[in-house]
Amino acid sequence: MVKFLGKSVYKGIAIGPVHVLKKEEQKVKRNKTEDPEKEIEKVGQAVLQAQQQLQKLYDKALKEVGETSAAIFEVHQMMLEDEDYLDAIHNMIRTELVGAEYAVAVTGDNFSQMFAGMDDDYMRARAADVKDISNRLIQCLSGQDGSDFAFEEPSIIVADDLSPSETVQMDKEKILAFVTVHGSANSHTSILARMMNIPALIGVPLDLSQIRSGMKAVVDGMQGEVVFEPDEGVCEEAANKLAKEKEKLHLLQELKGKENVTLGGKHVHVYANIGGVGDVGYVLENDAGGIGLFRSEFLYLGREDFPTEEEQLQAYRQVLQTMGEKKVIIRTLDIGADKQVDYFHLGKEENPALGYRAIRICLKQPDIFKTQLRALFRATVYGNLSIMYPMITSTEEVARIFEIVEEVKTELAKAQIPFKDPEQGIMIETPAAVMIGDELAQMVDFFSIGTNDLTQYTLAIDRQNEKLDDFYNPHHKAILKMIQMVVDSAHKYGKWAGICGELGGDLELTEEFVKMGVDELSVSPSLILPLRKRIRELS
Ligand code: PEP
Ligand code: MG
Repeated sequence: MVKFLGKSVYKGIAIGPVHVLKKEEQKVKRNKTEDPEKEIEKVGQAVLQAQQQLQKLYDKALKEVGETSAAIFEVHQMMLEDEDYLDAIHNMIRTELVGAEYAVAVTGDNFSQMFAGMDDDYMRARAADVKDISNRLIQCLSGQDGSDFAFEEPSIIVADDLSPSETVQMDKEKILAFVTVHGSANSHTSILARMMNIPALIGVPLDLSQIRSGMKAVVDGMQGEVVFEPDEGVCEEAANKLAKEKEKLHLLQELKGKENVTLGGKHVHVYANIGGVGDVGYVLENDAGGIGLFRSEFLYLGREDFPTEEEQLQAYRQVLQTMGEKKVIIRTLDIGADKQVDYFHLGKEENPALGYRAIRICLKQPDIFKTQLRALFRATVYGNLSIMYPMITSTEEVARIFEIVEEVKTELAKAQIPFKDPEQGIMIETPAAVMIGDELAQMVDFFSIGTNDLTQYTLAIDRQNEKLDDFYNPHHKAILKMIQMVVDSAHKYGKWAGICGELGGDLELTEEFVKMGVDELSVSPSLILPLRKRIRELS
C-alpha cells in the first residue's frame, strides 16, 4: 500500500483499477535480431491489433462526432494495409537484421519525410498520419497501453499531465478519477473533472514507472490523497464515504424541477457549461435551465483538420434540438493558449496566454470564423441559440465582428438559407473589457464574465502555472469589484450579465453575486443542484 497527497480539484471518492497513460516520446533503440521472420510476424500481429483499435475509435467517433470526423480512422486503417509501407518495414528487418520496433520507427520517419516534401497540400498533410500509425504500431509492439485513450473497464486515469485534446478523446463513461503529477487547478482538465463530477487530484508526486495499469487504487478527493494497492481497511472506509456521497447526491435530486429563487423572491438563471455534444446528457441529468457556455473549440480539438460547416451545424443542431426551448449560448472558438491544435499552425509563442488566441485568430483569419458563423446562423432555426464572442478587449473588435456577421447573413440570405437573428453577447474576461463596459454594453445583448481569464489577466498569474495556484485568488477584491462594475454597466443599458467562469459555482460567493445583481450563473453540470440549494437558502 502506498499513499500520495495531491491537490484536489473535485472532492469525490473513487475506487477501481488504475489506467496509466504514458506519453513519453517513443525512443526506439536499434536492436539486432537473429530471427527476422519472427520480427516480421510480430509486425503482422501489431498491425492486426492496431486495426482493431482504429475500428473502435472509428465506431466511437461515428457515434459522437459524425462520419466526416470519423473518416480519419478509416484512412489510418487503409494506410496500415499499404504494401509499400509494409514492404519497406519487412525489407529493413530482413536486410539489416533489426528488431520490428526499430524498423517501424525508421520506416515511419522516412515515409513521413517523403510526404512532407510533396507539393500537394493533401499529401503533405499525410506526413502526420504516417507518424501516427507508426507510433501506434510501436506501442502495440512494445505492449504499451493507453495509446488511444481507450480502456475497457472504468478506470482511475493516472498520467504525468493531460491536455484538453487528450481528455476529449477519452470515453468519459469510463473515467472514475484523474490523478496527475502536474496540472493546475484552473486548467481545462480540472474544469472537465468538475463537469463530469469525478474526483481529480493534481500535483501528485508520483513516479509513473512504479505504477502499473490494472493496480487497484482509491482516490479520496476530500483528503486530497490517492492510495495504490490499498488494504482492506482503506477500501472499506472509501466504500463508506462513497455511499454517503451517493446519499448526498440522492438528496439533491429532490431539487430537480424546483426554481432557482431566494427566500426573498429573487430569481437567478442557473445554466450549465459544456464542452461538446456528448455533455448535454449531464446538463439534462442535472436539470439546468439552459447552457450558458458551450466551449465550441472542443469541436476543433483531437482531430487532424478543421471541422467543416456541415459537421459544426450537426453538432450545434443536436445540442439545440435536445435543449428544446431552453437557451443555449455557444461561444465562438477559443483556440490558443492551452488549447493547441496542430492544424492551426499557431507556432510557438513566448506567452501564449497573452498571444494569438480566440477572437484574435477569428479576426485575423476570417475564413475560419465565417465557417463557424455560417454553421451557427444556420443552427438558429433549431432552437433558442445565443452567440458569444470570447477575449474581447475593444469596441473596434466588436464592430469588426458585427461586420463579418453581416457578411455571413448577406451570403446566407442570398443563398436562401433560413436563419433567425440570435442574441449576441461577449465574454468579459479582460480588464480592458471591464473598464469599457459602458461602451460595450451599448453594442451587445449580454455580458458573460469569464472569471478564469479575468483573474489570470488581472492578477498577472498564468492560470496554467501550477506553482502559482496559491496566488491565484479569484476572491481578490479587485475581481469582485470588477464583477460589480460589469453588472452595473450591463444594467445601465438594459442588458443582462452572468458569470460563466469557475467562480460562478463558488457557493461561498453565491450570496454576494445575488446582492450584486448577477442575472445568470453558468456552472459545471455537477454544481447545478448544489447551487440551486444555496440560492434557495438565501434570504
Ligand atoms: C473563463 O475564462 O472564465 C472562461 C469561462 O473561459 P475558458 O475557461 O474557456 O477560458
Ligand atoms: Mg476564458
